[in-house]
Amino acid sequence: MKIAVLSTDPTLYSTRKLVEAGEKRGHEVQVIDYLRCYMNITSMKPKVIYMGEPLEGFDAIIPRIGASQTFYGTAVVRQFEMMGVFTTNPSQAISRSRNKLHCLQLLAREGIGLPVTGFAHSTQDIDGLINTVGGAPLVIKLLEGTQGIGVVLAETYQTAKSVIEAFRALYANILVQEFIEEAGGADLRCFVVGDRVIAAIKRQGPEGEFRSNLHRGGKAEKIKLSPEERSTAVRSAKAMGLRVAGVDLLRSNHGPVVMEVNSSPGLEGIEAATGVDVSGKIIEFLQKNVGKGQVRDRIEG
Ligand code: ADP
Repeated sequence: MKIAVLSTDPTLYSTRKLVEAGEKRGHEVQVIDYLRCYMNITSMKPKVIYMGEPLEGFDAIIPRIGASQTFYGTAVVRQFEMMGVFTTNPSQAISRSRNKLHCLQLLAREGIGLPVTGFAHSTQDIDGLINTVGGAPLVIKLLEGTQGIGVVLAETYQTAKSVIEAFRALYANILVQEFIEEAGGADLRCFVVGDRVIAAIKRQGPEGEFRSNLHRGGKAEKIKLSPEERSTAVRSAKAMGLRVAGVDLLRSNHGPVVMEVNSSPGLEGIEAATGVDVSGKIIEFLQKNVGKGQVRDRIEG
């Protein structure tokens, strides 16, 4: 197969590992900087042009779109879809996954376990919003934050109110969520490929930190998931229309609850902690699925 890894940086661990895994299995793999791609969108025969030459003959793409480049990155993925090229994740599914509220709405529709979550626009409704999630302590999140930035734990009603007012005064979109205290500052990252969880780690935040993000000093270790956790992760990826996803769960008193579903999950932390060849599993997934006509996204919403 001829495979393109859409990434702005060929030196990143995940990009390098995907290239290596593809080449090791006898495929031709090229890293394409999607920000350098351009397109003639009115042409009857859709094309992507890269460094002056049309990209031709690709069987599959693996998009690794950065959170700050979603708009242009998904446009490039869409153009490949128009050309009939198989993608590990469809453009629409990537766009959905970048909005936490949209993500939770789709998961809720499927009956997947979630922390009680509220969302409102007007600051006149703050009391009602706080009560919706059962009062303080509660978590306030910027809708498009990543790596734990913009995730705040408000321990009291008054703090919650001030933080919500401050975010709203900056016109930030936020959601308000029940605090899952019993998770103890840990979450589970489940790496889904196709309809299976192929690797899972538990991430534990440093002492005194409720956020477990590795970028914030969290530590990762291999973990065995319960059958319910596995099926929650797989159903979540499916509900979002993602074929490759990092599903983050918290262990709550009422079973696994989903935090978010990531469409370009990093490979380094999970490969190091589990020893699983995650990049190899992604290439093997392509080997099984390319050419089966599953190009389009089928999620409504
Ligand atoms: P980001 O996308 O910025 O990583 P998350 O929503 O995943 O934001 O939150 C970051 C971390 O904060 C999570 O991995 C989890 O450890 C912790 N966290 C988030 N929401 C809650 C919650 N409702 N209850 C308990 N811990 C939470």
